[in-house]
Amino acid sequence: MKKIRHKISITGIVQGVGFRPFIYRTAIKHNITGFVKNTKEGVLVEAEGENVLSFIKHIISEPPSISEIIKYKTEEIQIKNSKSFDILESENGDISDVLISPDITICNNCRAELIDPENRRYLYPFINCTDCGPRFTIIKSLPYDRPYTCMNVFAMCDTCKNEYTDPENRRYHAQPISCYNCGPELFFYDNNMNKIEGDHIKNAADKIRDGSIISIKGIGGYHLSCRADDDNIVKRLRDIKKRINKPFALMAPLKLIEEHCHISQEEIKALKSAHSPIILLKKKKKTGLSEMVAPGMNYLGFMIPYTPIHVLLFRFINFPLIMTSANQSEEPIIFKDEFSKLSRLSDYILTNNRSILSFCDDSVGKIFNKNIYLFRRSRGYIPYPIKLNVKTEKNILGLGGMQKTTFSMLNRDRVFLSQYIGWTDNPATITREKEAINHYMNIFSIKPDIVVIDKHPNYPNRIIAEDFKNVEIFELQHHRAHIISLLAEKSETDTVIGVAMDGTGYGDDGQIWGGEFFTGDFKNLVRIAHLKYTFLPTGDRAIKEAWRYSISILHEIFGASDKTQSFAEMFGNPGKIISQIVNNKQNGVLTSSCGRLFDTVTSLLEISHVNTYTGELPSLLQSYAENFIWKNNIVKNTYNYKIFKEKEMYILDMLPAIADVIEDSSSLEKRAYVFHRTLSESITEMCCIIREESSINKTYLSGGVFQNTLLLYLVKELLEKENFEVYFHSLIPANDGGISLGQVYAIAGKFIK
Ligand SMILES: [Zn+2]
Ligand SMILES: [Zn+2]
Ligand SMILES: [Zn+2]
Repeated sequence: MKKIRHKISITGIVQGVGFRPFIYRTAIKHNITGFVKNTKEGVLVEAEGENVLSFIKHIISEPPSISEIIKYKTEEIQIKNSKSFDILESENGDISDVLISPDITICNNCRAELIDPENRRYLYPFINCTDCGPRFTIIKSLPYDRPYTCMNVFAMCDTCKNEYTDPENRRYHAQPISCYNCGPELFFYDNNMNKIEGDHIKNAADKIRDGSIISIKGIGGYHLSCRADDDNIVKRLRDIKKRINKPFALMAPLKLIEEHCHISQEEIKALKSAHSPIILLKKKKKTGLSEMVAPGMNYLGFMIPYTPIHVLLFRFINFPLIMTSANQSEEPIIFKDEFSKLSRLSDYILTNNRSILSFCDDSVGKIFNKNIYLFRRSRGYIPYPIKLNVKTEKNILGLGGMQKTTFSMLNRDRVFLSQYIGWTDNPATITREKEAINHYMNIFSIKPDIVVIDKHPNYPNRIIAEDFKNVEIFELQHHRAHIISLLAEKSETDTVIGVAMDGTGYGDDGQIWGGEFFTGDFKNLVRIAHLKYTFLPTGDRAIKEAWRYSISILHEIFGASDKTQSFAEMFGNPGKIISQIVNNKQNGVLTSSCGRLFDTVTSLLEISHVNTYTGELPSLLQSYAENFIWKNNIVKNTYNYKIFKEKEMYILDMLPAIADVIEDSSSLEKRAYVFHRTLSESITEMCCIIREESSINKTYLSGGVFQNTLLLYLVKELLEKENFEVYFHSLIPANDGGISLGQVYAIAGKFIK
């Protein structure tokens, strides 16, 4: 064979993920000389030898698990007669171009070594390599090099140092490298902080088996863990966490998960991916787990053991474990060694002396349409940037909304979307967000010129924005941000129809929006249509206590009739007071929220009346509807609704449908399903009307209500039947976790380079 030389440029997720050592090892295997180096765009390789083509084929077909080749280009060039293959230093020292890898699930090689008695890291709870281990959560500042991580306090032993400096070793430049001789250690305490000696992991497993609740230090914070098959234990955890009904996440190896849930190939792939998110899986009829893990839900959220500590724990345990963030109600996850707090939340603490520098909750998603559909983009995904197809000259910081908050930092064409921060309605979470913003500014060397906030006058992101001096502040309406977050995810610059079905967002007119139709592009969206305004008595309280809104809806449909009165009477004196408020239309706001529609249907069907967590009633209604359709029931009928025009605005009135839901004598399941179907049809009809006027054929679906994958499925099917192009989220949450991305993309439109 003839010797040739190729220049290969590769872009995608190829930095900080062990890509260069992988290229090096592959080159040696194929007798290739030349070099590899990081560039601004990605990785550049020059390869010379007889096997260049098979070398390229190998790189493209079997890249490291966490990497992702988006594009590559090869070109034959002059032979240079290189003698060796080298890893060259990066092209320039511009730190802001170096990307930080997300934290990566333990890889198969490390899993094998972990349980190999011959290996020097046999059962070592901090085993990792270039392909796996903590990254984002251990970084102090850039460059990503050992002295700038929390591993700087552990001096490498000679054996580790040899591995670290040998390009042929799979631990070459693995910053968290360590072993029994030189690395972090485990500790096990009771909740009086008495040290317990012995095999710490076995001790923890024994205590869990006996019914205790254990704090376990993980990658991005502490988990609370306990058995999931005992009502009393789960109830105790709920009391401790002050969490009434919100589902808990579970952890188990795949084999165990299969005993409790139906799993598709795509779900297995997602569970086993390097991101290892929590995946919502359809629960089997009989699971043997406590119903209190996820009351009323058709899905259980499972992840697989993703750190060596978890893997070792499951050597002693053969049942699923609850693994929920260590915190109380909506407070942020505990990630520092705050033992006094942890001992109030748990009976024992399994900890270690490797610091966590950034908190990072587990990511959560589901498989929809054979693809990942994230509800929370956090550990395993961040801080990898989202690439926009426009470049700006300004650095823009978006502060998100108030629920499920994230922030986004835009620099040129890259958006660094933050980890999940949570509800910023309490001082602890606001402080947490401020700290995280400072950390991002530091590690990415970005100073914002512009800060974007939600239009809501009372959201705390106004307070956070005040901390920034000499910045321009922009406001963006909540539902425009939802749609634009999806435009950013899909790199869309065209004109579209945006459908935002959501819970709560402050509207241009001071009312609470949440069922909105727009046309336009990422720079400017015009409201074209919305759900009919109805009266939400006592504002925010009625969002939680949906029965309050139901009284208002009944009043709207039936007036002050017997039906309305007898429903109100179920709630005693407060019911009477709400009736009066509704009669006088005082103390409340108008809302076009789609989330509230789901609330009130669930409440009027008397399935449940109170949201103990955001989206509880809508999720219950979804469960009922799914239970109907999963039994292979077929229905063709829908309820009534009205579309009309008022002052140049189209109005979708779903009150006739709610009246039909109430009057219908079919089963609750069927009524829940027909409601879903009706709403999907009405959304589709509205899109047809808008297309008629605007000739726009692309529909973009966003907003928290589209976490309901039954609704999303039905809307998608119906729109496609009408020949619309339909776009929905995948890696960016449809809920408020995506708002900050929409904020920066929208304002970027004003400053395109
Ligand atoms: Zn590994
Ligand atoms: Zn060592
Ligand atoms: Zn929203």
